[in-house]
Amino acid sequence: MPMEITARDALIVVDMQNDFMPGGALAVQAGDQIVPLINRLLDIFPTRVLTRDWHPPDHLSFAANPLFIDQSWPAHCVQNTPGAEFHPQLRQQLADTIVSKGTHAGQEAYSGFQSTELEGWLKQRGVERVFVAGVATDYCVKSTALDALTAGFDACLIRDAVRGVDNPPGSEAAAVSAMLKAGVNSIESREILPA
Ligand SMILES: [Zn+2]
Repeated sequence: MPMEITARDALIVVDMQNDFMPGGALAVQAGDQIVPLINRLLDIFPTRVLTRDWHPPDHLSFAANPLFIDQSWPAHCVQNTPGAEFHPQLRQQLADTIVSKGTHAGQEAYSGFQSTELEGWLKQRGVERVFVAGVATDYCVKSTALDALTAGFDACLIRDAVRGVDNPPGSEAAAVSAMLKAGVNSIESREILPA
């Protein structure tokens, strides 16, 4: 169903960074294919947030032999490295703010709301509903969407503008189910129209 974007809507683009793109340290398959969809959305929304994983080199999630399923990962998105930069085609200059997460060595943060100023920043601007795009569906997208609900926002998953790690297999579908069950709405990017 087509939906017009209003002044009370915000777009949250999760972690569209080189290390999560094909060829990156922690690649999400076809993660780069959603860049054009997200660029169109960045034009439509009045409020636009980019989140980024922004880890110190000794972050607790990094492992020499990562198992993934125990949420240990290869080193990724280390602060001030090329892998932590946004995808070069992402129109990051359209962002109203960039939210860094996982910035402390001893703390994991999948959600853009965890230990950040994002909730207050959005509420200060009168935002009531957030639309979530980016990677990875089964980790940071899911946590961000669920935390948006907890913070009192309506939340919409832009179904064709997210991609998952799907490790362990099935985790992407499970994440979508969990979000819908929790009350996150689902929408396709073509249904999102300028006001
Ligand atoms: Zn990370």
